[in-house]
Amino acid sequence: MYRIFLLSLLVLLTTTTMAQTKKYAVTKTEAEWRKQLTPEQFQVTRKKGTERAFTGIYWDNHDKGIYKCICCGQELFASSTKFDSGTGWPSFFTTIPGAFTTLRDTKFGMVRTEHRCARCGGHHGHVFDDGPPPTGLRYCNNGVAIKFVPA
Ligand SMILES: [Zn+2]
Repeated sequence: MYRIFLLSLLVLLTTTTMAQTKKYAVTKTEAEWRKQLTPEQFQVTRKKGTERAFTGIYWDNHDKGIYKCICCGQELFASSTKFDSGTGWPSFFTTIPGAFTTLRDTKFGMVRTEHRCARCGGHHGHVFDDGPPPTGLRYCNNGVAIKFVPA
């Protein structure tokens, strides 16, 4: 029993460390990010914050284009994969391939899947399995973490 405990502790420590030391193509210091981003953008993308529902700029945007990472400009979502989730956050049923890495997030006593920009590690939101076909996934994204570029 004790051995199992130690083992799970080790796994936990290892995965935590891996998440923290993961190398991203774009890395900046906290001061550099603060300089580049607005306080809200910084709070969400670098501190894993969440904007209040229906307050972001894109949840009701239906224009054609591409959504990019506010931190590093990586292309994340195509407007054709956006759908009305009714949640008040921009929601997509899939991403541009390779745009994100996903991590297990156990904050607030919930087990959720967090998605982070694969290029800069910026926090964008969480992935849920109640999305529409064809994927059944819902990428719930903070509007403040993305920048829309019209097609
Ligand atoms: Zn990024």
